[in-house]
Amino acid sequence: NSISLEQEGSESIRVCVRIRPLNQREISQGNANCIEVQNPQLLTLQMKTGVRQYAFHQIFDVSTNQAEVFAETGINSLLESALEGYSCTVFAYGQTGSGKTYSMAGVEDRLGGAEYTSDETDGIIPRSISYIWQRMSSRQERYYVKSGFFEIYNEQVRDLLNPGSGVLHCRWNSKQGFFVEELMIVDCTNIDDLIAVLHEGMKNRKSGSHELNADSSRSHSILMVYFISEITSEEGHSYKRYGKMYFVDLAGSERIKETKSSGGMLNETKNINKSLFTLGKVISSLGDKKGNALKPHIPYRDSKLTMVLMDSLGGSSRAIMIACVSPASSYIEETASTLNYATRAM
Ligand code: ADP
Ligand code: MG
Repeated sequence: NSISLEQEGSESIRVCVRIRPLNQREISQGNANCIEVQNPQLLTLQMKTGVRQYAFHQIFDVSTNQAEVFAETGINSLLESALEGYSCTVFAYGQTGSGKTYSMAGVEDRLGGAEYTSDETDGIIPRSISYIWQRMSSRQERYYVKSGFFEIYNEQVRDLLNPGSGVLHCRWNSKQGFFVEELMIVDCTNIDDLIAVLHEGMKNRKSGSHELNADSSRSHSILMVYFISEITSEEGHSYKRYGKMYFVDLAGSERIKETKSSGGMLNETKNINKSLFTLGKVISSLGDKKGNALKPHIPYRDSKLTMVLMDSLGGSSRAIMIACVSPASSYIEETASTLNYATRAM
């Protein structure tokens, strides 16, 4: 852990914004586009009160396709780090319907079937999986890949690969840090195995929420991929190296109108906001450079989400945040709130 990845352009968190196209409903309701991309690092938001300017590492306009998003988020460099034993996270933030799942996974339900064939609509996760297998085959060391997929709903952890297992506990030990106890971990020997994990988990996230009469947009889903490699040092000692990638599709960031919320929902809303709020606090303290004498307290333990992500946020780990927004004028308040959240992460 003493090796630092501090190089030019390799910030510990990279913040990207993706603007999805207006959909048919928004167009037919006469929504105007309220976001203007000035250049790939600068956008302006047309508020009633005036024009607001926002700067990010990378902004993806409505015309950006999935391949371009993958190429320009800088994710390949995170995947390389994970193969070298680091822990990294990619997460999508934004209101429900803003394109989080589309950006992370692609078109829902497409991934079923025995053999994976790539498609231009594929999002970051399937593209990452393809990239990883290509890279592993060209590297000298031999890799073992394992994967788990779980969700956090109302501050409760549920296994998306083993949906009957109920609420799982989050434990801590000095070797692993925080981990989800009794989570199903699957060995993946090829691309199809890992794609199957993704597909199965997404399917269970949907059907599980139907059964519980809950809304899957209020759950955080976390796909975890381990890369275990055996390294032989120059002196001939061999040791294991553990790299990790987390792909996180966050709960919708919209605030549920208080008047509409019943007691149960209110509690839920509070818990969802707790995870998103704590995540915001954690990632905004990541930008603080090493060597700063006044290291702020980082509140990892304040929410389940930040507990399980703890070892991949901070230290020598790296993260990418993709803030997803709709350009529709009717969502401008939510969009401003998403852009403010993303700005605090920079
Ligand atoms: P979220 O996961 O944030 O709730 P989704 O990813 O499900 O949102 O997106 C909502 C809808 O918009 C989906 O039908 C999705 O396919 C579509 N969509 C989102 N982003 C894009 C995009 N960049 N281009 C085309 N369609 C998109
Ligand atoms: Mg979604």
